[in-house]
Amino acid sequence: MTRLDVLRVPLLGGFLRWRYSRFVLQVPLLAIALLAIYDGFSGRQLAPTNTATVAVWVHYRGLVALAIAVFGNLFCAACPLMLTRGATKLAKRFLPEFSFPRALKNKYLVLAATLVFLFSYEHFDLWASPWLTAWLIVGYFVAAFFVDALFPVGTFCKYVCPLGNFNFALSTVSPTQITAKDHNVCSSCEGKYCLNGRLETASTRAPMLGNRAEHVLLQLEPMNAKPLGAFSGCETNLFVPSISSNEDCTLCLNCVRACPYDNVALEVRNPLREALHSKPKTDWTWFVLLLTWAGLLNAFAMIPPYYNLANWLSGLLGTRDEALLLALIFVVALGLGVGLTVLAARASGHLRDWVGVLYPILLSIWGGHYLFHFVTGANTLYPNIITAFMRLGLPLEPAPLAVTPRLDAIFPFQVVVTYLAFFAGLYITYQKASSQAKDTRGVVLRMLPQVLLLLLLNILTILIFSQPMQARGSLLQ
Ligand code: SF4
Ligand code: SF4
Repeated sequence: MTRLDVLRVPLLGGFLRWRYSRFVLQVPLLAIALLAIYDGFSGRQLAPTNTATVAVWVHYRGLVALAIAVFGNLFCAACPLMLTRGATKLAKRFLPEFSFPRALKNKYLVLAATLVFLFSYEHFDLWASPWLTAWLIVGYFVAAFFVDALFPVGTFCKYVCPLGNFNFALSTVSPTQITAKDHNVCSSCEGKYCLNGRLETASTRAPMLGNRAEHVLLQLEPMNAKPLGAFSGCETNLFVPSISSNEDCTLCLNCVRACPYDNVALEVRNPLREALHSKPKTDWTWFVLLLTWAGLLNAFAMIPPYYNLANWLSGLLGTRDEALLLALIFVVALGLGVGLTVLAARASGHLRDWVGVLYPILLSIWGGHYLFHFVTGANTLYPNIITAFMRLGLPLEPAPLAVTPRLDAIFPFQVVVTYLAFFAGLYITYQKASSQAKDTRGVVLRMLPQVLLLLLLNILTILIFSQPMQARGSLLQ
């Protein structure tokens, strides 16, 4: 049975269940995205003084990680890209709809897109270019529109969007999850509305307020009454009673509104539940592995040893081709990291059984890194927005840039987050080993490779966070 249901919390629950709550959350993000595009294309091309770079690389990323850690995948819920849905529906009237290729109905395309994005981020210094950042935002809107116009709605979120899938991956340790309140109700549910959607008519509205049997009878009536409302089902094809993780859940809450039996909860859960009990598919496993080590590499690329390594490699190979050097660093670092993780998992058992050990680390690496940017740049968005508005002709006074906090003040928080993830990983390791092994020796043997892996990740993360992170120049000095 459901424990604490966020949707029952006074005011907050009412707001979330409201049909237009998502729209209310999306509009401010759309406004910021439009302002970022405008400022990115026409404003000063200096990263700390432009809304595009500050909003995307400082605030958005920091707030995503924070929201996921304390609540859930709020940024997919508020994703302004979904406001292209109206245009998508219109386009579908004129364009043919294709089924998404079966070979791509997995996370491998997302994995490839994530690698391309991370490589481009380093190679083209996206974080430092308002202009490229504005193009990235435009590209995202265009891609979301065309993918969902040509393929079934929801294809972009589930199979294409690197950002959304990044959010899904970090949400593996979120404290909330969509669940069915009563599985018995679901087993006799005739329409599976949370998945398929529901058309509410004059004949079906009244019984929803009465008992369930009445409703079922009236559902069998011819649907010739005037439609009062259409409630979409889950666009990423999740069926509420089968949900055991946050993978693919955008927290759109369509399922909540589509279920006529009020049988969907946004349950407050143990954040380690998914890591302990769910067994992800192979494609998702590889995506999580890649993202974990890519998180370390992304943070490593901000500290001086990264540049020393690049210069050493340049001398060794006799080349100053930055793309080549970067590609080599990517292949070796990610290959080594992923390879070690696979070896550790195989030594403990099956890869898919053990990937959950990485979930807390994944959030701590990306979250700790983004926390640094967010805290050191939190006060830069407001003055930049004011400046952009002034350039648009609004009669405003320039807002002064506030003092940036001392950079080393963030390190203790990063250490705390890293150790929390480390101990959570140890706990998951122990629980998994205990459930798989028959005796103490078996438990120890299963735990050992995971503990060594966790220690390695912990040491690397602390070492990276302890270095001065800095605004970066070109790869080779
Ligand atoms: S959650 Fe609601 S709509 Fe979905 S199967 Fe259960 S009762 Fe039916
Ligand atoms: S409809 Fe699907 S994606 Fe939306 S909240 Fe429900 S389960 Fe999650």
